Amino acid sequence: MNKTKIIATIGPASSDKEILRQMILCGMNVARFNLSHATHEFCLENMKKIEELNKELDTNVAIMFDTKGPDIRIGRFDGGMAFLKKNDKIRIYTEDLLGDQTKFSVSYPGIVQDVKVGTIIKLDDGRIELEVVDKGFDFLLCEVLNEGMISDHKGVNIPGVRLNIPFLSEKDREDIKFASEAGADFLSLSFVSNHEDVLEVNDLLIGYNNDHLSIVAKIENEQAVDDIDDIIRVSDAVMIARGDLGVEVPMERVPGIQKMIIAKCHEAGKVCIVATEMLASMENIIRPTRAEVSDVANAVLDGVDSVMLSGETTVGHFPVETLDMMARIIESSEEDINYLDLLDRTMRTEKQDVTGSISYSVAECANRLKCKAIVAPTKSGYTARKMSRFRPSCPIIALTPNKNTLKSLALNFGVHTVYIDELDSFDKLMKVAVEKASKLLATEKGDRIIITGGYPFKLIKSTNFMKIEEL
Ligand code: PGA
Ligand code: MN
Repeated sequence: MNKTKIIATIGPASSDKEILRQMILCGMNVARFNLSHATHEFCLENMKKIEELNKELDTNVAIMFDTKGPDIRIGRFDGGMAFLKKNDKIRIYTEDLLGDQTKFSVSYPGIVQDVKVGTIIKLDDGRIELEVVDKGFDFLLCEVLNEGMISDHKGVNIPGVRLNIPFLSEKDREDIKFASEAGADFLSLSFVSNHEDVLEVNDLLIGYNNDHLSIVAKIENEQAVDDIDDIIRVSDAVMIARGDLGVEVPMERVPGIQKMIIAKCHEAGKVCIVATEMLASMENIIRPTRAEVSDVANAVLDGVDSVMLSGETTVGHFPVETLDMMARIIESSEEDINYLDLLDRTMRTEKQDVTGSISYSVAECANRLKCKAIVAPTKSGYTARKMSRFRPSCPIIALTPNKNTLKSLALNFGVHTVYIDELDSFDKLMKVAVEKASKLLATEKGDRIIITGGYPFKLIKSTNFMKIEEL
């Protein structure tokens, strides 16, 4: 049973129910809908299919909605595209006009005011680069540094410039309301630039009386990296969104930032996700490159909670094969995780209270005695989350009578959730724990499992016991 979770983005290549079924069977834990592209109708249709498959396959695949976020887009071109030639001069206007190789418009009205001469403007994921050489009354004059073909509505990045656009557009607000009403489990926020952006969304969710949706802050620009400690503090999870991050900061800094954020999230007990281009060549070819295999493996070895697929599963030719490959890399890499190191890292920052001490002991014991599983009854998911943070080498089976909790643990490393009826006695818990562990894992006589939780069930909020059972 793999411990590192897989998020797959759903798109035209993966919206067939049979494909979804195969993806779930290969190990998809969370289905992501990218609201920059997916319509509400598309989301609802596919959520329905996933819910039906969850029932049929007895799985708990959760749903993530991803906001569009504040972004700048190019307008339209005469004929849909234009070639921007190296060393040519080109004008950027804010007034809507039909572009060509000498001019185009962008959706950001403040661009002439906010951008200085000398600034680099990147188009289409950084494929084309322009340098601002002069400013007119209503345009920026740029020189083309890296040439290329550009088409309608492509994205614009202006690294290092704090844009004067509100974090949430009208569309984002509608999408967040939709996510809340549709019963999504995770809401990932594109282009947060500081923790206040996260708090603003948190307030919206409080207004909707939604205490289930977990907030994932996507780190994809320099400002977010600068405010990383506070962003981690106020978010449920953090995503290293390497696609845009690699355009906004020099690409060669991304691996270092990734390692830094994984370690910080782990120390803070927050979920960490590595995203984008993990198996990118599988969009078109059935095999990944050795470098991609190594990229996935390294994220796993560093102790990330979840890894994500985007283009590979939205428009790629091999969505199922990609998931299968990812699961295989995870399975093999988890053998090589240095669990002792990860446990040490947690211990350095863990509060010295009852829950922390018991959880540490459980993980330590599970590693030392090579236990088959840690079984944790939990209502809110608290015990399972805590256990996951200690990165034990065996799976954590979270038993819960709460339907929402089943999904809310979908991103947490090592946690496998199982629905149970409300527990009324300690003996019943022991019986159910052994039963569920034996059903889920290939256990043998003499195998050990550890059961941990808070007792008495209804009265206590902390984790205060551990019991080792021999099967
Ligand atoms: P996106 O986010 O796929 O929504 O752009 C991920 C990234 O930028 O890496
Ligand atoms: Mn992005």
